[in-house]
Amino acid sequence: MASVKVAVRVRPFNQRELDMGAKAVIRMDGKKTRIVNLSKTAGDVGFKDFTFDHSYWSFEPSDPDFATQEQVFEELGTEVVASAFEGYNACLFAYGQTGSGKTFTMTGPPDDPGLIPRICEAMFGKMQEEQEDKNYRVDVSYLEIYNEKVRDLLASSNPSGGLRVREHPRQGPYVSDLSHHLVTCYDHVAQLMERGNRARCTAATNMNDTSSRSHAIFTLTFRQAGLGAEGLPCETTSKVHLVDLAGSERADATGATGQRLKEGAHINKSLVTLGSVISALAEKRVGSFVPYRDAVLTWLLKDSLGGNSKTIMVAAISPADCNYSETLSTLRYANRAK
Ligand code: ADP
Ligand code: MG
Repeated sequence: MASVKVAVRVRPFNQRELDMGAKAVIRMDGKKTRIVNLSKTAGDVGFKDFTFDHSYWSFEPSDPDFATQEQVFEELGTEVVASAFEGYNACLFAYGQTGSGKTFTMTGPPDDPGLIPRICEAMFGKMQEEQEDKNYRVDVSYLEIYNEKVRDLLASSNPSGGLRVREHPRQGPYVSDLSHHLVTCYDHVAQLMERGNRARCTAATNMNDTSSRSHAIFTLTFRQAGLGAEGLPCETTSKVHLVDLAGSERADATGATGQRLKEGAHINKSLVTLGSVISALAEKRVGSFVPYRDAVLTWLLKDSLGGNSKTIMVAAISPADCNYSETLSTLRYANRAK
C-alpha cells in the first residue's frame, strides 16, 4: 500500500529579513503549524492551522523544540533506508520557494549534513552490518530537469537538446544515456554528490541561478542478491530518489514574458502534476487516472510513486511576514499532498 508522509520545516530568519525587521508568522505546536496573517482585515480570524506528520521548528536555535538535521534524518531518512532494504522504492522531495531551506534540508552544509549524505551513509553502514550471504551493488546517478530537458550532472558533456526519456515495457521510464556510477563506499558517493552539485552551480552562474529553476534528482539504485525463501538465488532492485525541486515561486508566471514565462509554465506543470500524483496516492484513489506523463519529473519517478513505494515530502518555509503569501501557498500544497 502506498505510503505518503508530509513534513513542514521552518528555517531561521535570514539576514535580509532581520535587516528589514521582519516578524514571524509561523507558530508550531506538536504536529500543528499555524500561519498568522498580521495584516488581517476585520472579520478575518487572522490565522490558519494545518496538521502534518511532522512540523519542524528550526527557527530559534536556543529553542528546545529546534529540529536538527539529525532529528529530521531519524524521523524521515531512516524510513527511506528501511524501505530500500525491504526491496521497495522511495522518493523524498523538498518543496518550497527559493531560499526556504530545500537544499539545506536535502544536502546541507559540510559541517551539518542533510538528508542525502545521511541516507547514503546509513545505507553503507547497514550493508556492512547485514549478513554475509548477501551481495550488494549500488550505483548513483544525478540529473537535473530544466525546461523539461534532462541534463546529466555527472557526465562530462550533455547533448544540447537534453537526454531522452524512454519507457521500458517492464522496467518502466528511464533516461537513455544517463551515466550510472558504481559505488563501493560512502566516500565514493560523497565525491559524486560534490561533483554533481558543482555542475549545478557552474550552470547557475552561466544561466543566472538555474538551481532555483530546475529540479535535481539524486538517485541510488540498490541491488541485493542473496538466497530467497526456498534457498533459490534472487535479486531485488530498489531505487531511492532524493529530489530538490525548483523554487515553487517560479511556478507563478504572472506578468512574465519570453524565457521566464516558458520556465514558469514548465515548473508549474511539474509541480501541479506532482501535487496531483501525491494527493491521488494519499487518498488511495485506486485506479484513478494519474497524469504522470504530463511532466518529465513525474514520468521519470512513476515507478517510485505509488505501489509499495515510500513517498515523503518536506515543505520548506520562511518564518517571515514578507513571505506570507508564498508560505501560505506552500502549506496549502503540502496539505493537499498528505
Ligand atoms: P533553497 O534551497 O530552498 O533555495 P537554502 O537551503 O539554500 O534554500 O536555504 C537558504 C538559506 O537559509 C541558506 O543560507 C541556508 O543555510 C539557510 N537555512 C535554511 N534552512 C535552515 C535551517 N533549517 N537551519 C539553519 N539554516 C537554514
Ligand atoms: Mg536550493
